[in-house]
Amino acid sequence: MAKLSLQNIYKVYPGNITAVKDFNLEINDKEFIVLVGPSGCGKSTTLRMIAGLEEISQGQLYIDDRLVNDVAPKDRDIAMVFQNYALYPHMTVYENMAFGLKLKKTPKDEINKRVMEAAKILNIEEYLKRKPKALSGGQRQRVALGRAIVREPKVFLMDEPLSNLDAKLRVQMRTEISKLHQKLQTTFIYVTHDQTEAMTMGDRIVVMKDGIVQQVDTPLNLYNYP
Ligand code: ADP
Ligand code: ADP
Repeated sequence: MAKLSLQNIYKVYPGNITAVKDFNLEINDKEFIVLVGPSGCGKSTTLRMIAGLEEISQGQLYIDDRLVNDVAPKDRDIAMVFQNYALYPHMTVYENMAFGLKLKKTPKDEINKRVMEAAKILNIEEYLKRKPKALSGGQRQRVALGRAIVREPKVFLMDEPLSNLDAKLRVQMRTEISKLHQKLQTTFIYVTHDQTEAMTMGDRIVVMKDGIVQQVDTPLNLYNYP
């Protein structure tokens, strides 16, 4: 279970660049939230603040009623998937997925169980012994998702995870990520500049422009917006 509360959040970068201005949002448990807007509108910055990769300049971030502004990324129960898959090239798929758990000294059979479960969900069981370079773009993206899944995070953050894929695969992976959300029953926060992606995936969509939230609504209500 994971709900988030973002209250009056600002991000000001050095040089007095206000990337995010007075961001307010209550995110429900198991919700699929999409942040959408043009390049430079503050989506990544918002996601990175939630992940703890970027300091919050002002405001409060709560995860399950716990103020996490000063909590380290690894203690936030969050996993993030990036657009560049950032897989370790010298490791196999299995090792890539197991690596984070190994660092945390998770017992071997527990690691094995979680990797096999994630591989099954993502349909990459056949590729576990391969290196990333022997995989297609879509398969690599699945491995990146797998690496996040095995950590069993309360919140999944995704920053344009499909933008490096070709159009056909992008459409297919949209459906797969929606299914993944259903299956995992966790909170997803997904960043994209692609409006179709936002409309087809989000329970609610947060429309941003110039660091400011313009609208927050369901796809249906946004579609019918005058
Ligand atoms: P988006 O994800 O919507 O493309 P970003 O959050 O990456 O937007 O960027 C929002 C604004 O903040 C942009 O004007 C960008 O140039 C600026 N910005 C992002 N990261 C930094 C940084 N590390 N230092 C200074 N400015 C930054
Ligand atoms: P994206 O399209 O994912 O937002 P960007 O090209 O905006 O990617 O940013 C890539 C990286 O560079 C990010 O880590 C971001 O924080 C950083 N960045 C973006 N704009 C600036 C900037 N004006 N000054 C310094 N770093 C920046």
